[in-house]
Amino acid sequence: MAKSKLVLPQRIVGEMVKLAKTELPNECCGVLSGSNLQVTTFWPLKNEAQSPLYYRVSPGEYQNVKYEISRKNEQLIATFHSHPKTRATPSYTDRLNHPDQAILMLILSLKVNPPELKGYFIEDVHSYVPYPIVMNSQ
Ligand SMILES: [Zn+2]
Repeated sequence: MAKSKLVLPQRIVGEMVKLAKTELPNECCGVLSGSNLQVTTFWPLKNEAQSPLYYRVSPGEYQNVKYEISRKNEQLIATFHSHPKTRATPSYTDRLNHPDQAILMLILSLKVNPPELKGYFIEDVHSYVPYPIVMNSQ
């Protein structure tokens, strides 16, 4: 993950923005899959916490989506969640709960207009770096 960029279809960005607005005032969440850093599928997940400040996915739902992704011969590339009222920066809780260093973290902030989407490589709970995203029309 130390190289290159995440490639994200405009269509999926639209789906993420729509979900984030639908779930207000709470955070929304999901994961993105594809191959070689090209995202092809967006999987919305339920925010069990129903909170405007953090999100929680049930372990069962997370395992199910990982299974569905493998059945499509895709890889889990990134987690996704929204920040209704703060900038698109990983919180301490976000970093603490991040499932795997090999997975990127995408955050969509609705604090700003138009919404701001940022990607991160989460090295550990204390260390993260921005990861570039390019959008395409696939
Ligand atoms: Zn967050």
